Amino acid sequence: MKNLTILFSIIIMTSSASYSKKEKADLVILNGKVLTIDKENPYAEAIAVSCERIIAVGPSAKIKKYVVKGKTEIIDASGRLVIPGFNDAHVHFGPLDPDFIELRYTTDPSVITQKVKEKVAGSKPGELIEGGHWEHEMFIDRQWPSKELIDKVSPDNPVVLSRADGHSVLVNSYVLNKSGITRDTPNPLGGEIQKDPATGEPTGILKETAENLIWTGAVKSSRSPEEEAARTHQGYLLALMEAREYGVTSVQIPGDADFNAYEKLQAEGNLTSRIDIGKSLTGDTSVLLKYKEIKKKYPDGGNWIRFGYLKAFIDGTIGSGTALMFEPFADNPKSSGLAMMPYEKFEEMVVTADKMGFQIGVHSIGDKGNNWTLNAYEKAIKVNGRRDSRHRDEHTQTLQLSDIPRFAELGVIPSMQPTHCITDKRFYEKRIGTERSKGAYAWRSLINTGAILAFGSDYQVEPLNPMEGLYAAVTRKDRLGEEGNGWFPEQKLTMEEAIKYYTLGSAYAQFMDDRKGMIKPGYLADIVIVDRDLLTIPEDQIMKAKIDYTIVGGKVVYSSGK
Ligand SMILES: [Zn+2]
Repeated sequence: MKNLTILFSIIIMTSSASYSKKEKADLVILNGKVLTIDKENPYAEAIAVSCERIIAVGPSAKIKKYVVKGKTEIIDASGRLVIPGFNDAHVHFGPLDPDFIELRYTTDPSVITQKVKEKVAGSKPGELIEGGHWEHEMFIDRQWPSKELIDKVSPDNPVVLSRADGHSVLVNSYVLNKSGITRDTPNPLGGEIQKDPATGEPTGILKETAENLIWTGAVKSSRSPEEEAARTHQGYLLALMEAREYGVTSVQIPGDADFNAYEKLQAEGNLTSRIDIGKSLTGDTSVLLKYKEIKKKYPDGGNWIRFGYLKAFIDGTIGSGTALMFEPFADNPKSSGLAMMPYEKFEEMVVTADKMGFQIGVHSIGDKGNNWTLNAYEKAIKVNGRRDSRHRDEHTQTLQLSDIPRFAELGVIPSMQPTHCITDKRFYEKRIGTERSKGAYAWRSLINTGAILAFGSDYQVEPLNPMEGLYAAVTRKDRLGEEGNGWFPEQKLTMEEAIKYYTLGSAYAQFMDDRKGMIKPGYLADIVIVDRDLLTIPEDQIMKAKIDYTIVGGKVVYSSGK
């Protein structure tokens, strides 16, 4: 076995050496700590790139030979970590609202005042001002924000700013008045109107169902179709900018999106992340034939805009108590969740689409929901025969332990989003008890049985920043870095594993592992340089890590200037 490995490496070394002799590099990265995710050659120092592909990986001294003076761009990584670009396997990517006030990672609440003030200055009276993603636990004083923070700067506009988790909002007095919310308004069922303990007045914070009381009375902004189109285009550019800044070089959109919009962005030279777009799963062969036509236009062999997989939902969520479970919820013994359709109908759709050669991905949260998804894929193999289908189980949140080995057996990909684990663990055991939580986000158990994970963010439900996913995968702790060893710590991954599933694992899930997800000669040059060494820093540093360079197809599309 050992001899074979050595022989194999020699073949690779000689073939890459002869391959590279002819070529000169357009770009080289020198003096890095390169984590290649290529198990034949896991660590290196430098990379040479020609056109859109990597042509050589090795020591800086060797890679310098590819440099042509005046032609080759040289990046000195100065010891920084260099890894393949992140591939977000489940992201609701699309145009952002250009007017949305982004408050994520705000530590100083006065920044909120300032940003609202600026937005109001550019708006007409009565126009709705929206923003969010603030997290008061990140504020210096860790206090809930209140309407006083924004009232003075927004006397004539409704302001609604949502918390990072989307479960509470801060509104100004304008909104409270329009909505008729006063000190005397009782809390609605399942919600809270936060009130000042001293004065009894509403503070401006509305939690859960209390958000339904909001009536902003906002005046409609009137825009022409041209203005609307320009705004949407700007929204795409903002989304792509965010992806570049976070080092996300590939995105896989679950379900439908606008192929034409991305084509236009590509034609303009503005497409800086590779995109997979899917469609909804159906058992209707006439619709499936139409999908085939679209797929011809955006084939698997493409590298930029591709037809992804067919998406279905089998159940809901644990948080809302709608995940499909074998046994009732611990905190609601009357309910075992909801199936989105009868099993027989679901199975028929899966078998039909599988027969026509499509890849399928099913949103599966509860243990029974996941069981159904696996059963349907198993049935497809029985009826249509085994092929390299790489069907996906989107989320894979709660598994009965006996289902864990079936992923590898059936070749099904658990497409998982690590941050869901650290967001949901607050209520998981309350909802389903400790015993069933053993099968929740069971990364280690899954890979022990040979399953290949694909990692993603589920943005905009969770943040796009892959550092949050890596942090979640290696700590299983909340974002504030709680004490202890993490939630079901036996399921934690190492940082190298987490990076692998966020790059090569995700590429495998889209049939691109032959050309993406590793830093290896012949592979697409999608590379990021991180400002700190994720492999050695303490865990409280992981989410603070920033991207210094994002390279897609050999082009530097983002640089922090460091
Ligand atoms: Zn999703």
